[in-house]
Amino acid sequence: MPTDRLTDLKNRLALVQDLRASAAVLEWDQETYMPPGAAEARAHQLATLKTLAHRRFTDESVGALLDGLDGLVEDEFDRALVRVTRRDFERATKLSADLVARLARAKARALEAWKRARQNDDFAHFAPHLREIVDLSIEQAEALGYERRRYDALLDEYEPEATWAEVDAAFRDLRAELVPIVQALAEADPPDDAFLHRPYDPERQWNLGLDVLRAFGYDFARGRQDRSAHPFSTAFSVDDVRVTTRIAPDFFPTGFFGTLHEGGHALYEQGIDPALDRTPLASGTSLGMHESQSRLWENLVGRSRPFWRWAYPAVQEAFPDALGGVAEEAFYRAINRVQPSLIRVEADEVTYHLHVMLRFEIESALLDGSLDAADVPAAWNAAMEEYLGLTPETDADGCLQDIHWALGAIGYFPTYTLGTLMSVQLFDAAKRDLGDLNGQFERGEFGPLLGWLRAHVHRFGRARSASEILEETTGGPLDAGPWLAYVREKFGAIYEASL
Ligand code: ZN
Repeated sequence: MPTDRLTDLKNRLALVQDLRASAAVLEWDQETYMPPGAAEARAHQLATLKTLAHRRFTDESVGALLDGLDGLVEDEFDRALVRVTRRDFERATKLSADLVARLARAKARALEAWKRARQNDDFAHFAPHLREIVDLSIEQAEALGYERRRYDALLDEYEPEATWAEVDAAFRDLRAELVPIVQALAEADPPDDAFLHRPYDPERQWNLGLDVLRAFGYDFARGRQDRSAHPFSTAFSVDDVRVTTRIAPDFFPTGFFGTLHEGGHALYEQGIDPALDRTPLASGTSLGMHESQSRLWENLVGRSRPFWRWAYPAVQEAFPDALGGVAEEAFYRAINRVQPSLIRVEADEVTYHLHVMLRFEIESALLDGSLDAADVPAAWNAAMEEYLGLTPETDADGCLQDIHWALGAIGYFPTYTLGTLMSVQLFDAAKRDLGDLNGQFERGEFGPLLGWLRAHVHRFGRARSASEILEETTGGPLDAGPWLAYVREKFGAIYEASL
């Protein structure tokens, strides 16, 4: 009977999800409270849990149950469960246990080498590890299979449906529009942002972040915030979705916008239909869609003019020494200053994509064999000069700044830009349905927006793909047009420039 098979499948998947969630708790602990001496023991614990989860998931019986259920399931979520599980199962079983183990070891070594190389500004120390990661990624792509380019097989892990050719075409179009905008902004008078670099009491920053998360609708009965060196969000269940943040005592935006960003990721996970919990459907449908949620709350809400009409009085009151004499409008302009910079995670909304594009080009060239790992610094610096007019003085501020390649995550970077484009498409659709969002933000009302996102994006988890969500909400596919229109309007007004 299909129902018995379905129940059997769900029980097996629930066990796998429990193992994965337990590993995620250990990882969260590793980044927040674990004493440094526990690193070796923790690596063993994580390897054990992940190996068990992988074995249970790729067991023949799971494949047999999936075969037995093909075409026999009626319910929308159950059909999605079979489809998504089949996809994950096929990906997981294409990789041999030997390749998975070699990848895991190479990543662990590369991560340590990257940390040291970055600390000592010594790219040569990282180069052989990067070469090994690239070689194994190629082997992985060949095992997974692809139609046109190796890159597609890796991108598929992070952004199912997307292909290298689509990303390449979208990035070319976007760059052609973006470069003149960046130039026009560089020639205009920049807003003064010196007051953002004053001392901001860390305790008050922390509490302010909690207040805004609460106002956005983050549920602290099903989540918590802690400190970590690199902010992240993680979910162990729909009922336990956590965020971390990092506070800079002398720079306001780091803590505040980092908190809003991770909060946006967490709101997505808290909004998934509880019926999907303990199944593979209980997470974001793609990294791009996930990033659309974080950037929507961070930028489209958190860096908007109406948001600050509501938030500024409390912020000014919390930091009278830094902001006592700073007008609301001056503050709004300062947090939206556009300036070509070296570091991606500190980049403004406009120049951000140029950082992503250069990484996409470099990893594409590494995978197709036209660039050797040893030549990455030269390629990086040439692209930085071409796109942003800057050359990093050190590789630590250049090609060693991001952790992704050391973690074996090649094909991940484009999702940052794809998600940002999606965020404006979704925000426009919400505005169309909800009317005066600006007025709501000015009154600190975020419930209608969150409710809309829950109804159209969050609740489906992985049961709907990113393109299905975009189609349903906007009537079309991924499109850079709305983001460009948003940038022209917002930054044209701030800079009094015609873009
Ligand atoms: Zn993010």
